[in-house]
Amino acid sequence: MYSTKAYAAASATSPLAPISIPRRDPGDRDVQIDILFCGICHSDLHSVRNEWSGVMPTTYPIVPGHEILGRVVKVGRAVTSHRPGDLVAVGCLVDSDRTCPQCRGGLENLCANAVFTFNGPDRHLGGVTYGGYSASIVVDEHFVLRVPANLDPAGAAPLLCAGITTWSPMRRFGVGKGQKVGIVGLGGLGHMGVKFAHAFGAHTVVFTTSPAKGEDARRLGADEVVDSRDAAAMQRHAGSLHFVLDTVSADHDLNAYLNLLAHDGTLTLVGAPEKPIPVSAFSLLFGRRRLAGSLIGGIAETQEMLDFCGARHHRRRRGDRDPAGERGLRAVAEVRREVPLLHRHGLAAARLKRGGPCRRVTGRRAAGRRPAPWPGAARPSPPSRAAAAGSPSGRANRRTGSRRAPRP
Ligand SMILES: [Zn+2]
Ligand SMILES: [Zn+2]
Repeated sequence: MYSTKAYAAASATSPLAPISIPRRDPGDRDVQIDILFCGICHSDLHSVRNEWSGVMPTTYPIVPGHEILGRVVKVGRAVTSHRPGDLVAVGCLVDSDRTCPQCRGGLENLCANAVFTFNGPDRHLGGVTYGGYSASIVVDEHFVLRVPANLDPAGAAPLLCAGITTWSPMRRFGVGKGQKVGIVGLGGLGHMGVKFAHAFGAHTVVFTTSPAKGEDARRLGADEVVDSRDAAAMQRHAGSLHFVLDTVSADHDLNAYLNLLAHDGTLTLVGAPEKPIPVSAFSLLFGRRRLAGSLIGGIAETQEMLDFCGARHHRRRRGDRDPAGERGLRAVAEVRREVPLLHRHGLAAARLKRGGPCRRVTGRRAAGRRPAPWPGAARPSPPSRAAAAGSPSGRANRRTGSRRAPRP
């Protein structure tokens, strides 16, 4: 066992603060990883605040983070798929039973005994697992992904949760050329969905209540953008979509989107509205339509996704500015309240699912400089004055206040 530095919340109301956490020494099949980047997923915030207490109550202290990119520093004797120096990734899962039908079928995400990267039962050290807001992690090689060398490691981090969450259902339902696909919502999940639908060759239509996002949507690959509050515009697409990916977690009328489906079309939910949503049976009966849900993805399909992105050179050059990402950063007030030190000390890349695509927030390591010294006993900074005062970005953030799917 060794100890490593991490950021943890001590309670549902505490900001994250530095602590030391234990990590197991790598066993025969383990990979020890120095973490370079970790995305910030809205699930992190939900878990820190124990907002999913009914489904998965939080054990404190909690170290969130399940979009991990890092470099292998040590491997166990029996490890065959990774070597020291490799760039690797870890997503939402670090273990499962490997024996159930789901595991044998490559769907570890659906295993009843799956262990999530944070706040899951730690079968090695006891207690709960600690996530990627830390400097080092030890993971069984089966749950460690290879990262293609041509992907920007900071930019690739969000693929490990938002990416696979949208990739998996679109692959499962065969999204591709000749199809018309709808993406509902253009937040963190939605923008990934647009990129993948476009990359798969589908005619991609974005439905949003924020027409201001239209330019972003088109830049990400959307062929059409529809204001979902415009009934006439919605009607023009009725009965025409082969697949709809619904990423919205605020209350909304599902029937309006089911009615957009062509016969045998599927609407897949990846957002999780807090309250049950009424579904009219007729929305499904007419056209033999399907309503489905999806939860992250298995290890094999996650690797397939990373390889696909690598093969397509989905890479953003360092220093590129991304308008959607910039807007996300302006909406960062809420995140800042939770993780003030991440921004000050260059620990992690931030991905802001509410506002837009991932973007490296800090880049000391990426810039080739020495890593920032660990802040040690530094106290977390108070919330920014703008956030505390309810800045425009803070207000915007609250306005969108919606629940994210309980992706682990
Ligand atoms: Zn996540
Ligand atoms: Zn299993």
